Amino acid sequence: MPADHPNIDLHSHTTRSDGTLSPTALVQRARANGVDMLALTDHDVLDGLPEAQAAARAEGLVLIPGVEVSITWAGETIHIVGLRVDPQDATLLAGLEANRAGRTERAREMAAELERCGVPDAWEGALKYVGNPALISRSHFGRHLVALGLCASQREVFDHWLVEGKPGFVPQRWASLADAVGWIRGAGGTAVLAHPGRYQRLDETRLWALAEDFVAAGGEAIEVVAGGHGPEEIARFARWAKRLGIRASRGSDFHDPLESRFDVGLAPPLPPGLVPVWTDWPEVQGP
Ligand code: AMP
Ligand code: MN
Ligand code: MN
Ligand code: MN
Repeated sequence: MPADHPNIDLHSHTTRSDGTLSPTALVQRARANGVDMLALTDHDVLDGLPEAQAAARAEGLVLIPGVEVSITWAGETIHIVGLRVDPQDATLLAGLEANRAGRTERAREMAAELERCGVPDAWEGALKYVGNPALISRSHFGRHLVALGLCASQREVFDHWLVEGKPGFVPQRWASLADAVGWIRGAGGTAVLAHPGRYQRLDETRLWALAEDFVAAGGEAIEVVAGGHGPEEIARFARWAKRLGIRASRGSDFHDPLESRFDVGLAPPLPPGLVPVWTDWPEVQGP
């Protein structure tokens, strides 16, 4: 790990959830893009970590075991990233399993809903993109909609489909904020509020209330640089990190070379004047 300006990317996905690269291919791509330390943070699942860890050893980069937990807060779906979690922690594993349990049933309902709206072969179509049968996500349906030509891009999918008030939406009750932060901390990890700029259904007041609830629950960092954040959001959430007195994280939220806004390792750097979430991690101190 270089002492000066290491390239640290703490949010990424593989085929074990809704990414399109295997854990090995993700790690190789990260290394090729100059990443020194990468967190794999698949949705609600830790399955990709052993393969990613082996690839990281071969490639000579540091792999941080992570996860992205879906929660429901005030009726909205929010994502909490857990970093440096113990992948064997029984309570974390049980919590993630509970979150996954509803996904398959929800996916069946989404398929029925989409077919009712005239989308052919919604179930079989989405399944073509699923790499882990335990983890069916809206992204897989989104790829089917793009393949059918009903949407130009995966990003466009979430403007016109699969969100509240649009075709294919099925509401879901995920874990609570307190549970998710508790599982992450209980597994020795650090909880990070993921891509706060993504929650556009929350106005300023409610988003701030979420951030305060997150800190009160034991959350310790916020994604300032995130896949969905432009320059204004980076500046805005840098101010929030300071005002909340918490640390800042950087993650590309990489899913796929063509779908993602930032390739793995290629999101902008953290703005100056923040405390990076990795500031006191042994992994960045070197051997
Ligand atoms: P799910 O966990 O099944 O609700 O699916 C959520 C996933 O859909 C996220 O993790 C993203 O990969 C993707 N997604 C959600 N909203 C958007 C968006 N606005 N643009 C691009 N991808 C999105
Ligand atoms: Mn995703
Ligand atoms: Mn997310
Ligand atoms: Mn993500």
